[in-house]
Amino acid sequence: MNISLSSDFATAVPEMAVSWEAVPVEEPELLVLNEPLAREIGLDPAWLAADGLPFLTGNTAPGFAQAYAGHQFGGYSPRLGDGRALLLGELTDAEGRLRDLHLKGSGRTPFARGGDGLAAVGPMLREYVVSEAMHALGIPTTRALAVVSTGHVVQREEPLAGAVLARVAASHLRVGSFQYARNTGDVDLLRRLADHAIARHHPGSTPLELFGHVVAAQASLVAQWMLVGFIHGVMNTDNMTISGETIDYGPCAFMEAYDPTTKYSSIDHQGRYAYGNQPIVAEWNLARLAEALLPLFAEDQDEAVRLALATLRTFDSRFEEAWIGGMAAKLGVSGDVKPLLKDLLALMQENHVDFTSFFHLLGKAARGDAEPARSLFLDLAAIDAWIARWRELGPDADVMEKVNPVYVPRNHLVEEALAAGADGDMGPFERLLKAVTSPFGERPGLEYFAAPAPQDFSATYRTY
Ligand code: AMP
Ligand code: MG
Ligand code: MG
Repeated sequence: MNISLSSDFATAVPEMAVSWEAVPVEEPELLVLNEPLAREIGLDPAWLAADGLPFLTGNTAPGFAQAYAGHQFGGYSPRLGDGRALLLGELTDAEGRLRDLHLKGSGRTPFARGGDGLAAVGPMLREYVVSEAMHALGIPTTRALAVVSTGHVVQREEPLAGAVLARVAASHLRVGSFQYARNTGDVDLLRRLADHAIARHHPGSTPLELFGHVVAAQASLVAQWMLVGFIHGVMNTDNMTISGETIDYGPCAFMEAYDPTTKYSSIDHQGRYAYGNQPIVAEWNLARLAEALLPLFAEDQDEAVRLALATLRTFDSRFEEAWIGGMAAKLGVSGDVKPLLKDLLALMQENHVDFTSFFHLLGKAARGDAEPARSLFLDLAAIDAWIARWRELGPDADVMEKVNPVYVPRNHLVEEALAAGADGDMGPFERLLKAVTSPFGERPGLEYFAAPAPQDFSATYRTY
């Protein structure tokens, strides 16, 4: 198969693209392939599965390791970059959009620092299933094309089987890409990077308008995460895209019992990236993007700061609008839902109510059977009073069922599927993938995938 990849990024900002070869993979084995996505980007799935494994592991042509900087847990690193990833190039998809084809786990690059450049099967399968679930939920995200096991041994706390993930994204431009360019002091590089981002994502915009688009996209994205209980887990500025797609599925997780302080990541000691902090962190990251772009906003830097702040301040109202509008749909009602929502969330928190189950079962209440939803609460009098108030607003079950997922990649299900996958049994992974890629509407036989984790699992669960 003749695949024509462009290299627009490397052409626009050669200082930020290091041509580099992936580590040779002698024994590639296909674990999972996203056939519809392959077709969408003009790749033949049959070819990929049969003869395309060298291509999917980066063994047919060099790619580019992209440079970026980033604030990690608030601390600035001027040089991060793709330590174990490569941009193979850009492809034009069926709708004429440019999409990055990118590999993760393809070996050490000049940005690897102390890392081994590798990825293990489990985490790559995790990114695959969670990102595809997010896509099915209608949330902007990078997509997973394939996971190929490599036969390499990846040394973590124990020796693990290695894998390469192929992923597809609107671009891999991050807040950290702009921080990197700004940090070089080369305003021409910064301008070329901004021009490239504008051409790709918002043709015709000024740099200030580009910033406004990113603020809007991220406000909407974080609201959408929170409406399905998604916790990204590592919202460093290098993990926040300019496109508004979710990226970097490392320690992410879906919240079970509602609590804004929920965090699962083993390294997030302070809870910086806890569920309820996500909007504040997004806004903080966007302030870092504004700082990087200041030289392009206006000659006069005081004026540039004024313009940046005016745009940054739109974040709160945009987030609030997306969150409240989304919550109104989840509740199936319109009008002023704020008081109702505030009381519901307080009740859910006090009663440790499973977030996904509640909204799913509330749909049944809208159809007349409130028992499954109310039985999630210990304080029955309080939830009965709340349901009575909600009913007065005339909830619409059809609206609710379109937005309240039944099946999300719950932590215990993901862990179970990955453990089996690492042992060579992809059956549980495939079944989970099937459930979470059609998240809306109850289907017979899938009760197992709708149920919360056993309590002893959730109490100690950590992501890495
Ligand atoms: P992340 O926390 O996944 O966003 O990664 C942060 C940085 O660490 C990026 O520059 C990655 O490329 C780099 N990195 C993560 N894991 C590895 C690894 N195993 N080998 C080399 N670099 C890595
Ligand atoms: Mg990252
Ligand atoms: Mg990562």
